[in-house]
Amino acid sequence: MRWLPVLAFAVRGTLLAGTAADFVRALHENQFDRSECYRVRDITIVKEDLKIYLTDGHLIFSKPLAGRRIAAAFTADVDGGDGEVILLPPSRAERSSLASYTGSPNLDEHFHAAMFIFTGSDYDAILSQLPKSTVNKKVADVAANMDEFWTPTLRSLADGFETRMALDLIGGSAGHPGIFVGLFKNSKYGNFDVIFDPNGQEQIIAGRVVERDHHNYFDTWTSFADRSARHSPPVHREDVLLSDYRIESTLNADLSLDCVTRVKVKPLADGANTVSFQMTVEMELASATVDGRPAEILRRDSLRSNIGRSEELFLVFPPEPLRAGREYEFEFKHSGKVIQDAGDHVYYVSARGNWYPTHNVQFAQYDLTFRYPLDLDLVAAGDIVEERTEGDRRITRRRTASTIRFAAFNLGHYEQVQVERAGYVVDVCANRSLETALLPRPQQTLSIPMAAAHQGQGAIVVGPAQAPPAPSPVAELQRVATEVASSVEFMVSRFGPPALPHITVSPIPGTFGQGFPGLIYISTLAYVKPPPATNPSQQLYFDDFLQAHEVAHQWWGNRVTTNFYRDGWLMEALANVSALLYVEKRKGAQSAELMLDSYRTSLLEKGSNGQIADAAGPVSFGLRLTNSVTPAAYTTITYGKGLWVMQMLRRRMGDERFLALLADLAKQYDHREITTDEFRRAAAAHLPPHSDDPRLETFFDQWVNGTGIPALKLSYAVRGKAPQLRLVGTITQSDVESDFSTLAPVEIEVARGQTITQWVRTSVDPVTFTVPLKQAPLKVALDPHHAVLRRM
Ligand SMILES: [Zn+2]
Repeated sequence: MRWLPVLAFAVRGTLLAGTAADFVRALHENQFDRSECYRVRDITIVKEDLKIYLTDGHLIFSKPLAGRRIAAAFTADVDGGDGEVILLPPSRAERSSLASYTGSPNLDEHFHAAMFIFTGSDYDAILSQLPKSTVNKKVADVAANMDEFWTPTLRSLADGFETRMALDLIGGSAGHPGIFVGLFKNSKYGNFDVIFDPNGQEQIIAGRVVERDHHNYFDTWTSFADRSARHSPPVHREDVLLSDYRIESTLNADLSLDCVTRVKVKPLADGANTVSFQMTVEMELASATVDGRPAEILRRDSLRSNIGRSEELFLVFPPEPLRAGREYEFEFKHSGKVIQDAGDHVYYVSARGNWYPTHNVQFAQYDLTFRYPLDLDLVAAGDIVEERTEGDRRITRRRTASTIRFAAFNLGHYEQVQVERAGYVVDVCANRSLETALLPRPQQTLSIPMAAAHQGQGAIVVGPAQAPPAPSPVAELQRVATEVASSVEFMVSRFGPPALPHITVSPIPGTFGQGFPGLIYISTLAYVKPPPATNPSQQLYFDDFLQAHEVAHQWWGNRVTTNFYRDGWLMEALANVSALLYVEKRKGAQSAELMLDSYRTSLLEKGSNGQIADAAGPVSFGLRLTNSVTPAAYTTITYGKGLWVMQMLRRRMGDERFLALLADLAKQYDHREITTDEFRRAAAAHLPPHSDDPRLETFFDQWVNGTGIPALKLSYAVRGKAPQLRLVGTITQSDVESDFSTLAPVEIEVARGQTITQWVRTSVDPVTFTVPLKQAPLKVALDPHHAVLRRM
């Protein structure tokens, strides 16, 4: 993904007399200014931890835009000409990440050309340094060449930056000062970027765009909070609050959707000239009004801003600046083809981004009306307020009983059953027919990769299925319904009420599941009886685990949420461990171990780079794990390592304490965001008294913010004479870096049904421990209950 133009940022800008369209036109026509070209020596650009030296060369500035020069280009085209960029990441994980791409834990690169794009006062800051050297002066002879060479680059980049530039420069109080983007060229990498965004959640990002298998990836070399933010972390605050969504949608015969979305918007600061929204790229935005008056829209497709992205940022400019605390009604008309036909009357919502405009993801009430062809069934979040038929259309109106973060829907030709458990109603729908992809195809046997995933809200993606003989989803409907209802019951009893009291489950063809508030998509594979040859962990996955995982998202992701890429793993890990606890209760400990073993196998699988999957990066790197080096690592690590992190905490705490932790999280963070660090503190508070690593800092350094899976070996001997025996054991650790250390349990069965557990902290050297015993042990075992993620 390309981070830059989508991070909310900006300048308290000059309001242009013209419109956003004028601004964009001016941006695309902007060029370098031949009267602002300099011979420069020893110019320094410092942005917190980032240092750029224009040691010797030529520098040209762009013409002003909205009263500000927004770009400069540097070339080291003089004798001994040079530029240098230096960046020292502050943490071990970030240094390792940088080193994995560049071979060095610190960035120190010379460059022969660079372009800078900025909205702060960088022009003035550079000009003020010119008197330092007599070499620094205006030059005319290279100006024309510089302009001709760099202006096309500036204009081609304008596409990717226009939304951010507009927000900064003409957004009024919607913008804040000072993004600085450095695009560098050298012989080692070709191009690479360093971005400083004072309003980003992490202000400094370095990396580059790499193409692999016809797909563009943004490889994040490093990303971290700058020095000031590390010293005093900024408080995240919304600039506008959204409430009370009313969406009216008409589904046409060609499956296109026409929508009118109304939402109340309350600005928290005076004088915003614009409000930013996100929506799936598959929806066209036709118009917007604010309190009934037409508003200008700025929305452009751009490759640079949309690498790997399904949503796109756009700006709405109301007719006059917004006032703090007043409530405005924004109305959008949008339409698009977000529904796909999977064949044989099976349909599904294919848009992976949000199908209506949102501003970040805020909890809001929803009132949804759908008009759709009579021969279809439509399910959506919320309780039915009204349902009627009008000509050849059915009209359904739904309202949510409480605030939710997403409103989802699905449609098809459904057979439906209703199950009530623990006071909650679960409707489960199945397709009356199979999508074409699932029809029997002889000679084809494909395996189902475990829990491959998508970067969506709690999505699990699975591969194509083996073709079973004449399967019927409806026949399996009752089984799926019972399964879903019992997992709802299980989780309600442990985590409290789900996101919405009424849960509908609907099938989605082929490849994934997803848990929206009140509406769960489950792979059609879950409705199909697996062929006898299916691998047991896959069978368990589709019989129980997938449904339970998606049900668990009613809490993890839809009641308790995260808003930062580093914390996203928590929702998947909590959903996975909830599913694991459920499977264990329903099918026994062996079933849970089967799932853990299967995830471990995936984490230990060697990739084309010769490294195990786990080595791609820490689980807290989130979507950074999807990159040109390890395109598939996100799934394995988020779901697999995430589950193991939870399992290891569970074993250290014991089940009672671990369940109390989950219940506490569901309560304390209800309708709130949680960070990884807040989770660590909550977990530490549930450790048994006198635990090793009482703040869990070592545990999180190792397992959440680090990589590595050790091999552990136990050897032991029993010495002395009863009743004064001593068990002397040694644990040897290998296959990890020398500073790796974990707690590992040794279970000693001293009498039938009586076990002593000795936790031992491992290290690079073999660790010896002694346990006094009264009689010879019946059995001694290292970690017999999956308490440590280790090589087997
Ligand atoms: Zn999930």
